[in-house]
Amino acid sequence: EQEVAEYRKSLGIRVSGFDVPRPIKQFEDCGFSSTLMNAISKQGYEKPTTIQCQALPIVLSGRDIIGIAKTGSGKTAAFVLPMIVHIMDQPELKKEEGPIGVICAPTRELAHQIYLESKKFSKSHGIRVSAVYGGMSKLEQFKELKAGCEIVVATPGRLIDLLKMKALTMMRATYLVLDEADRMFDLGFEPQIRSIVGQIRPERQTLLFSATMPQKVERLAREILADPVRVTVGEVGR
Ligand code: ADP
Ligand code: MG
Repeated sequence: EQEVAEYRKSLGIRVSGFDVPRPIKQFEDCGFSSTLMNAISKQGYEKPTTIQCQALPIVLSGRDIIGIAKTGSGKTAAFVLPMIVHIMDQPELKKEEGPIGVICAPTRELAHQIYLESKKFSKSHGIRVSAVYGGMSKLEQFKELKAGCEIVVATPGRLIDLLKMKALTMMRATYLVLDEADRMFDLGFEPQIRSIVGQIRPERQTLLFSATMPQKVERLAREILADPVRVTVGEVGR
């Protein structure tokens, strides 16, 4: 335990919550399949970034997480890699409909980046990723969603529109990521986020990532996460 505490301190990681899994030192410690390990090396990722060292074992253990770390710290892979594992763990993957992993991001640029990162790791697994954000034809997105996907990366407004159009069902969704939660609040997406969360079954894993943690985001986190582990890397303002 002492050793774990010192290792965290040396990386600038702070944690709170019950029974926090210990940080890993290398991707090999995650128990990933060879298919996923190959995809990781293909990206040139040699070792996990600091947030990944602590967030990966937490998320892989099935816990909810609040991850706070600055931009550029590698938060995307911290939720995408366990999402691939979560999806591949589903029995009879192709029998039900609708995304298993749902990722919300504040802007289409961010959603697009996450879409690209998800594709890199999902492709070799036969996992389908759909992007749902403004600037693309709603009809095209409707058709793509109807054809089926395991992951949807979305901006909140467009996702709500497509849910209203019944382009997709959230029946199968059990892995929800709110990325850049502070920016989604700044952009006024709180009602949309609450509506989306309300349409996803409560027995889900919920992940919230943010660069800062203002009171409003804190309050939402308390409402929608269950016994989360909080991980903070470096100095983070409110
Ligand atoms: P954040 O979401 O924290 O702002 P990103 O997930 O966008 O950060 O990652 C920032 C950059 O670091 C991206 O170009 C990504 O491909 C790269 N990256 C992520 N994880 C690793 C890793 N383990 N090794 C090397 N590069 C990485
Ligand atoms: Mg990010």
